[in-house]
Amino acid sequence: MRAFGFQEHGGPEVLDYFDIDEPKVGPGEVKVKTEAVALNRLDIWVREGWPGLDLELPHTLGTDMAGVIEEVGRDVVGLERGDPVVVNPSLWCGFCRACERGEQSLCDSFAILGEHVPGTLTTSTVVPARNVLIRPGTLETVEAASVPLVFQTAWRMAGKANIRPGDVVVVPGAGGGVATAAIQIAKHLGAHVIATTSQEAKAKRAQELGADEVVFYTEEDWGKQVYELTAKEGVDVVLDTAGQDVWPQAQRFLRQGGRLVCCGATSGPEATLDLRYVFYRQLSFVGSTMANAQEFDEVMSLVFNGWLDPVVDETFGFEEAHDAFERLENGDGFGKIVIEMDA
Ligand SMILES: [Zn+2]
Repeated sequence: MRAFGFQEHGGPEVLDYFDIDEPKVGPGEVKVKTEAVALNRLDIWVREGWPGLDLELPHTLGTDMAGVIEEVGRDVVGLERGDPVVVNPSLWCGFCRACERGEQSLCDSFAILGEHVPGTLTTSTVVPARNVLIRPGTLETVEAASVPLVFQTAWRMAGKANIRPGDVVVVPGAGGGVATAAIQIAKHLGAHVIATTSQEAKAKRAQELGADEVVFYTEEDWGKQVYELTAKEGVDVVLDTAGQDVWPQAQRFLRQGGRLVCCGATSGPEATLDLRYVFYRQLSFVGSTMANAQEFDEVMSLVFNGWLDPVVDETFGFEEAHDAFERLENGDGFGKIVIEMDA
């Protein structure tokens, strides 16, 4: 099968096509024929590599996918060849302490398709049957592929932040995939949403998704602007994907009991906190990764029923994978970049 990824870690120049063996279906597994794959910032981190990441090379990229079941393994019930599905890219063991407690993303051997194991940017992928959901016909394939990683991540973050109706929620970096989901989820939960972004066009899109107000983080005093928008009462929750540029500002504009939940560090991995703000205002700074199986089902059902909308930036064909990754790298888009296999 033809696949797209890299044969050695490095910059965008290492991205290429190569051939891999077709995967075999084991008991409890299904083989899904790829129709569409959404890209994630994670793909760039994996391509660059980090200390301790030990991948078998060449490595196939791709985390999110929508496709059709091609083959069903032994002991699988409720799924048939030809079923249109969307795939949960989280992989867990099912029997460690975290898994037994239903906290799959805390699993001892937690992995993500395309990050720790070969990804989905190829003809077909084998996954545990528990990782697929049959998708409704109302959802286009490209839209379906754009949903799993970012919506499950944002949903778990919103849960950890314990968002209540009337809360003021800040979502930094409104064009990013998780942020587009977070804006909608915070609105759905009854919050007043302040998004931050860098461009006028993205600000407009953020408002269409439900952001009540938008602040430009390119301005030096953006944190102060956020604070002033709350009539100086402060912010209840920050759903953060940016990290370094957000934490120092957030510790100032969070109100008593404020919560920041962070799932990424696109602006850098190191942040300094003044602990006097943290203890005196009783602030929480919490990490979050992906979601547990129940959270995944919950948020997918909100998408399937039209409460939350997939946000697709641009679609590329499989032969245009280099262009798709270039757009991802530039960060100019709003929402998800999707590769359609037969486009
Ligand atoms: Zn486990």
